[in-house]
Amino acid sequence: MATCVRIGNIEITALRDIGPLAFPSSNVFSDMQEGGWDSRSHHLTKEGEFPTNFTVFLVKSHDATVIVDTGGGPGPHEAMDGTEGQLMDALANKGVSPEDVDHVFFSHLHFDHIGWALRQNPDGESTPTFPNARYVISTTEWNYWTQPDILSSSPVEQAIYPLERMGLVDLTDDETPLATGIRAMATPGHTPGHQSLLVESGGETAIIAGDVLHNTVQFEMPDLCADFDQDKPVARAPRRKLLERLAADRTMSTFGHLLIDSNIGHVIKVEDRYSWQPL
Ligand SMILES: [Zn+2]
Repeated sequence: MATCVRIGNIEITALRDIGPLAFPSSNVFSDMQEGGWDSRSHHLTKEGEFPTNFTVFLVKSHDATVIVDTGGGPGPHEAMDGTEGQLMDALANKGVSPEDVDHVFFSHLHFDHIGWALRQNPDGESTPTFPNARYVISTTEWNYWTQPDILSSSPVEQAIYPLERMGLVDLTDDETPLATGIRAMATPGHTPGHQSLLVESGGETAIIAGDVLHNTVQFEMPDLCADFDQDKPVARAPRRKLLERLAADRTMSTFGHLLIDSNIGHVIKVEDRYSWQPL
């Protein structure tokens, strides 16, 4: 299956940073009713666990190189069996150097999306991994995570906050353009300021939809939330709205926690039921 798609003159590539890692499905989807899983179609492991990748999307157009999220980071991540993020190798394999990146667009600021934003030099000093990039965060997301009590107990303090002192953060709202045919789109719920990236070129459209959903079971059950969703009631309506739009227009879409070789595709609606058709 495909890890790359062209939308007019813009190329979107899924880059594996971490995984697949498997988590107990009952811990991630604690609201799932008994018998709701189908191991094969929902890609559960033999042990019934939920496998997921931390994926970064590379968006290349004639005038911009954008990455969406920065994965889990270099590691080793003790909580994840010593995993080390592979993003820099994945970028190099695509011929992209850190200096080439113009925008780092964050869907949101959970730890698995901000890992490579900064690196520490041997003196313990933080430096931006992508030295020529603007780091793009939604205003709502920024205001939420930078509340003093939340900031001091979150990875955002070390992994993101120094970028602001360096003058590298751009705050966005719904529809803020990054480059020709590339703009932000508010999709709140997973976190207060979660945003997607809308890509339009040559009459085609794609939406890079971050963590609007985490597993293919949510196409069939859009109201089922992962326990990672910070506000489950708020997450449901935008998820349904987005799925409706994706299905109605046959808009290409991507989701960062679906497995790497099946996370670009189309949402199909037959009668009242959505399903996922990977490229
Ligand atoms: Zn995530």
